[in-house]
Amino acid sequence: MKTIIKTLLLTSAMLAIQNAQAADQQQGHQMGGHGSESACPLSSDQIAVQALSEAEFNTLAFMREEEKMARDVYNALYEMWGTRNFSNIAASEQSHMDKTKVFLDAYQITDPASPEVGVFNNDALQSFYDQLTARGAESELEAMKVGAMIEEVDIGDLQNAIAETDNEELAKMYTQLMLASHNHLRAFTSHIINSEGSYQAQVMPADEVAAILDSPRAEMNSGNAIELKTDGEVIESTACFISNLSVEETVLQNGESLSAEQAFSVEFKVTPSIFDQTQTVDWIAVAIYIPENSDQRLLFMRQDDSWQIWNGQIEQLASAGQSLLSDQDYQFSVFDGALPNVSGQLAFYSAYRLPNGNLIFTQFPTIVNLS
Ligand code: MN
Ligand code: MN
Repeated sequence: MKTIIKTLLLTSAMLAIQNAQAADQQQGHQMGGHGSESACPLSSDQIAVQALSEAEFNTLAFMREEEKMARDVYNALYEMWGTRNFSNIAASEQSHMDKTKVFLDAYQITDPASPEVGVFNNDALQSFYDQLTARGAESELEAMKVGAMIEEVDIGDLQNAIAETDNEELAKMYTQLMLASHNHLRAFTSHIINSEGSYQAQVMPADEVAAILDSPRAEMNSGNAIELKTDGEVIESTACFISNLSVEETVLQNGESLSAEQAFSVEFKVTPSIFDQTQTVDWIAVAIYIPENSDQRLLFMRQDDSWQIWNGQIEQLASAGQSLLSDQDYQFSVFDGALPNVSGQLAFYSAYRLPNGNLIFTQFPTIVNLS
């Protein structure tokens, strides 16, 4: 059964991501460090596992191997030409392989990526690797064109992957990979343009490639949170929220089913954004309860140590406690106990609220199914 959580909070979160990305494209704002793609590492147990279609499964496995194809080709081209671009971008492709692997593990999909360099399960990727490493051996310029071609192929496949899925976590991961591919395409084509004066699109429509080349470098956000300002503006935050669902100190897969008698705990490890440090913040916890066989969504918020009904108004969110943010991680224990009379799904979110009212919150909930 596919459970789609459509709530005020989640919907605004997804809108927020899209707006923030649009803002990124337009302004190329400078938040987030260069290449700090793994500053907020997601582990597989944090992914809220939901039903995927066969196409979604296949695409996920394919994208893992396609990122490997890019990595292996760039490493081979670096061996041939010693150009820094190839080794830097190969390292980025390794991080993309890691990101897709986290999802493969969460969904218990067999990893199609061979540990052997230049060896592929997928025949198309194998012949790509063979042809492109041969073509890249012709000249350094030809090697740059190989790089640009791989990025065009990758962008097209990621566009399809994003269009195919309604799983928000998956779409977010693919989007990060695609924005990185835009950066890579700009890097390779700038070498080509320097020596030939122009770049001819090889796979994608020429106008789409031109639009990517015209847009500024996408800064890879080092966090995974969203900042909702009091005037309604939404931006990506460099804060990092890492959650754990656990029973008796054992970390479980996000989305796990438990019997209602079982005590469980939900804890968030929060690394505050550098912009928010030295401020005293309110800690905020929200739970969205969908009773079994029901379309109802019941909203709760934590006021100090007790859970109260929440009317969905952001301004009405109670404080679960206060602390002074530093550069240290903050362990926020959101829930600890049993809910013996509850059956259905609970989704926990956490946030902190700055003195100016801006809210920094998790994009993705920690989910537990009770029966
Ligand atoms: Mn990539
Ligand atoms: Mn790339």
